[in-house]
This record gives sequence, C-alpha cells and structure tokens, in this order.
Amino acid sequence: MKLKIAVLAGDGIGPEVTREAIQILKAVAEFGGHDFTFTEALLGGVAITAEGTPIPKATIATCLDSDAVLLGAVGDNKFNHLTPDKRPEAGLLQIRQELGGFANLRPCLAFNALSENSPLRPEVTKDVDILFVRELLGGLYFGQPRWWNKETGEAINTMRYTKAEVVRVARIAFELAQKRRKKLTQVDKANVLECSQLWRATVDELKSDYPDVTVEHQLVDSMAIHLMNTPRHFDVVLTENLFGDILSDESGVITGSLGMLPSATIGGKVNLYEPVHGSAPDIAGTGKANPLGAILTAAMVLRHSAKLEDAALAVEAAVAEVLAAGHRTADIARGNAAATVTTKQMGKLVHEALAQSLDREQSLHGV
Ligand code: NAD
Repeated sequence: MKLKIAVLAGDGIGPEVTREAIQILKAVAEFGGHDFTFTEALLGGVAITAEGTPIPKATIATCLDSDAVLLGAVGDNKFNHLTPDKRPEAGLLQIRQELGGFANLRPCLAFNALSENSPLRPEVTKDVDILFVRELLGGLYFGQPRWWNKETGEAINTMRYTKAEVVRVARIAFELAQKRRKKLTQVDKANVLECSQLWRATVDELKSDYPDVTVEHQLVDSMAIHLMNTPRHFDVVLTENLFGDILSDESGVITGSLGMLPSATIGGKVNLYEPVHGSAPDIAGTGKANPLGAILTAAMVLRHSAKLEDAALAVEAAVAEVLAAGHRTADIARGNAAATVTTKQMGKLVHEALAQSLDREQSLHGV
C-alpha cells in the first residue's frame, strides 16, 4: 500500500516525538512491503523563524497533496509577544481549517501497566478502551452571532447545528462502532437544549442503517459521572463540539498522562493526526518527552488512512508490552526516576517490540 505522509514536526518536543513515530511507521512499511513517503514542511514557530509566517503557503500545498498529515506540536514562548493571529498556534488553527476534518477521534486506551498513574482505582480503569468522536466544526465554538459588549455587560454565543452536520459525523461514529464492540453512546443535554434534541432525533433516525450497533443516549452531566465510575461500559462516544472537548479531556484522568494521548481528525480533504499534548517548552531538548502519544498517533495513521488494522494493533500491543516490562519516561515514572528512559530509548524499545512481533508474524506466514 502507498501512503504520502506530510510531516509537520513543529516546535519544542514536536520534532523529538515525531521522529520516534516516523521510525515506527517506517518499520511497518519495511516489514509489510508498503511504500510510505514522508515530506517535511514547516508549521508554527519554526515557520515564523524561517519564513516569517506560522503557516507558509508551501506547507498548505504539501499537506493538501498528501494522504495524511502527521503533526508534532506547535508553540514557542519566544513568540508570546505577537498578536494571536501571528503566533505559532495560528498555524495550527489554519491547517485544521484547510484540511476540513469535522470528526475528531480521541481514543482513551488504558494501559493496565499504568493503572497506578490514574487517581481512579485500577479495577475501575482496567481494560478501558473508549473512542470519543467529537464534532469539530460546529456548535458553540463557531455559531453566529457571537459577541461580548463590555459596556452593557452582555455576551452571547450561539449553539447551532444542522441535521446534515450531525448526520455526517454520526455516520462516522456508527461505522467505527461497527468495527469495534458495536456500541454507540450519544451524549447531549436533550432535556434542556433544542440542538441536543436535533442530535438525539437524528442519531435515532440513522439507527436502522446500522442494526448491529446498540445505541444509547446519555445526558452530558450524568455522562461526566459515569465516565469516572464505569468507564469500561463505553465503546464509541459520539457528541457535539463543546461536550466532546470537555469529556475527552476528562477521560485523560483514566489514562494517566497527557504524553500518552493520540488523536486524529478525519472526514475532510486530508486526515490530520496529532498527539493531544503541546510543545512542552519546559522539557524540550532534555530527552524527557514521552513519545508514546506520538507513536499511538502513528497507529491511528495506520488504522484510519492506511487501513492496516493489524499493523495498528501491533503498534498498540508493542506499546503495551514495553510498559508491561516496566519501562517509563519521566512523566509516567511515578517517583522511580532512576529507572526512566529517554525519548529515544522509549522509541527504540517500542521499535524492537514491534519488530519482534512483525518478525514472528512473518515467520508464521512463511510456515
Ligand atoms: P503542553 O501539553 O505542551 O504541556 C503541559 C505539561 O505536560 C507540561 O508540563 C509538559 O512538560 C507536559 N507534557 C506535555 N507533553 C508531554 C510529553 N509528550 N511527555 C512528557 N511530558 C509532557 O501544554 P502547555 O504547557 O499548556 O503549552 C505549551 C505550548 O504548546 C504552548 O505554546 C501551547 O499553545 C502549545 N500547545 C500546542 C498544542 C498542539 O500543538 N496541538 C496543544 C496544546 C498546547
């Protein structure tokens, strides 16, 4: 299989963790005989330094000419004096808009070896595997009118959705549920909001197209509680922009560290893959960055763009194996700093575990 991947490593720890993610994708390509090409382009602070803009035109062209975009992180304190539209983060917002993805996928995968890292009890977080599908281009964050009149002391934001906007993201969630444990939880506030009533009715209308998927509705306030009490109950969680933002962040409590979380934004012209964390300027260049969020993001590239589900599972299993063997970067070390590994060492360990499992698979096929 052929895949053209645009790489926007960005700032701070972005290049450090992206390098490890690329090594993993290269290993999968080599073992599987796939043709993955990587084209680097500038985004964020590095682009401001080199070209005077956080998002050069060439970067947009490279991304639109690719099958997938792999982003590290952007943000550099040395540009804090600039106005928001000129800062590194402006590049991030614009590339998301240019690519046009409307379904933000945020997996919440609890690695049992890290159960001590969550404030929740291990028996609560054990084997949690939730996929949040958050609508990304509508709702309160984009609805008009929006303003703040400081003289009258009044502000307004508008939550607005069309049925078509709900249908397109709901279909993605149904299809993903079909490939998983076939359960879809739609989250809303239908007891109060008309927008939520539209979401609920639309999802109910679509149900008959996916008879193998069980659908349930949850009010967002009770969902916030259920997520902490019984997270294993959930498979795919579909929700609108604001609720998805809050609930997917809340689910970070289950997995233990920001450095472990991957994401993908799909449905637009080109899929965009990025770890959830930022550029972490406080640890950039120290070798302390956890590359596992970026490596799990690479697994999402394999799953959603390359359609190589087995390879995606193999990467996730390699991460689980390395963690189970006790290897930790500083952010997940829980006080045992002497035993920590660097960004590069962690990348190498996952690479080795993956190579061994792909090797085993190849020899099995050869028998
Ligand atoms: P951050 O995610 O960069 O860091 C928050 C904390 O988590 C820091 O203590 C950091 O050291 C730690 N951390 C983050 N990722 C880690 C990893 N992989 N391994 C180990 N520790 C990790 O968030 P912030 O400090 O609020 O923002 C820093 C910069 O990143 C800002 O300029 C912000 O605008 C930008 N940012 C970018 C993105 C993105 O590119 N998607 C997202 C969030 C923030």
